[in-house]
Amino acid sequence: MDELLKELHELEEMMLQCMKCGTCQSDCPLYRTDGRESSVARGKISLLQSVYEGRIEDAGRILKHLDQCLLCTRCLKACPSGVKTDEIFLRGREILRKIKKLPKWQKLILKTAMEKPELMAKMAPLMHMGLKFGSKKIKDGIYRPMLPALGGRNVVEIKSEAFVKKYGGLNKAENEIMRVVFYPGCAVNLIYTEWGTAVVEVLRHFGVSVYVPETNICCGIPAASMGELEMFRNAVRANFDALAEYRDAKYIITCCPTCRYGLYEMGPKQTGAECPLEVVDILVFLEETLKVKIQSGVRGRSTIHFPCHYQDSKKELVESFVRTHTDTEYVKLDNQSCCGFAGTFSLKYYERSKGFSRSKIQEMKDKRTDKVYTPCPGCAMQLADAAAGEGLDAEVTHPVTELYEFLRKIK
Ligand code: SF4
Ligand code: SF4
Repeated sequence: MDELLKELHELEEMMLQCMKCGTCQSDCPLYRTDGRESSVARGKISLLQSVYEGRIEDAGRILKHLDQCLLCTRCLKACPSGVKTDEIFLRGREILRKIKKLPKWQKLILKTAMEKPELMAKMAPLMHMGLKFGSKKIKDGIYRPMLPALGGRNVVEIKSEAFVKKYGGLNKAENEIMRVVFYPGCAVNLIYTEWGTAVVEVLRHFGVSVYVPETNICCGIPAASMGELEMFRNAVRANFDALAEYRDAKYIITCCPTCRYGLYEMGPKQTGAECPLEVVDILVFLEETLKVKIQSGVRGRSTIHFPCHYQDSKKELVESFVRTHTDTEYVKLDNQSCCGFAGTFSLKYYERSKGFSRSKIQEMKDKRTDKVYTPCPGCAMQLADAAAGEGLDAEVTHPVTELYEFLRKIK
């Protein structure tokens, strides 16, 4: 117990920066729905402080409040005092997790996903078949598993072949101008493999040769969000070692902002190691580095869901990408809240997470959108589930897939 209190005291300096001003209230998706002080960053910091001020017996209950945080980083961005809320909450979870350990079966699944990436890729055909046979088909690529424990979710298909199995290695472009590494992340490797294909093929079209790791090592964020920060650090270090091998690559490209956050922002802070290359989102790379000029001719009414971990400074770039590269009529959403996926939050608190996505889907229905773009596979899964559940007949996809479809047609 003394050790635990000592570790909490190490967070004291960061926590004392909180002036308890409450500015973070209006940005916190949880506080906006329940109005509880324990939901907002200020309240969570006070709860953590209360543990080392003597309420050690409440540590388990306080972990529950920390555990419900979406880790969306909206409070971090809004805080005028620069309180590092994401670091406090991740580290706080890790420390309190020592009192209330993860159930053994959860730890085993997590360890397998983090430490046996080859096994995850090998299990893809099995998971693909299991999902198909144990589920009702809702529409192409979307299934509703019969298992009551899954709470009536509409699940996006797990592909029969992992993305890295097909694309692992160097995907050489004709007239090569540059080499990059594409880091797919778990969701693209196993579920949205077509996004990975689009990224590689669009880059190759523009003369960029693309290395794809033969094995996809998880970025580690799911472990961090469950309080297993050491597993996260190990995953980050393993990724840095693997990515450092691509000596002639200029950038690491990603189409998952949470992977970018894990590897490029939180990873170095938690490990003290440097990411070997800059990690750049695919849309940012296409717009700012390659300055692509293609009109895909896709029509319809589109909107964009911005993931919480997407860089605020690049959001206009995404809107401009959709406006410039499609012929869709773009309508902006008033509801700019989190979709509710938030890593493991949707798994643990499905009903609550559904409330976030449902309200977004309602606005999309009101605005008659039939294309929902989002540059994050986690958000896409959450929105596809909600769209199927709420009767919105819209495709949920990454904008880069439109460019790829267009290039395929004109070849
Ligand atoms: S905005 Fe920052 S300083 Fe103000 S209460 Fe929230 S975390 Fe504390
Ligand atoms: S990370 Fe998000 S959900 Fe958690 S306290 Fe901050 S704003 Fe609220």
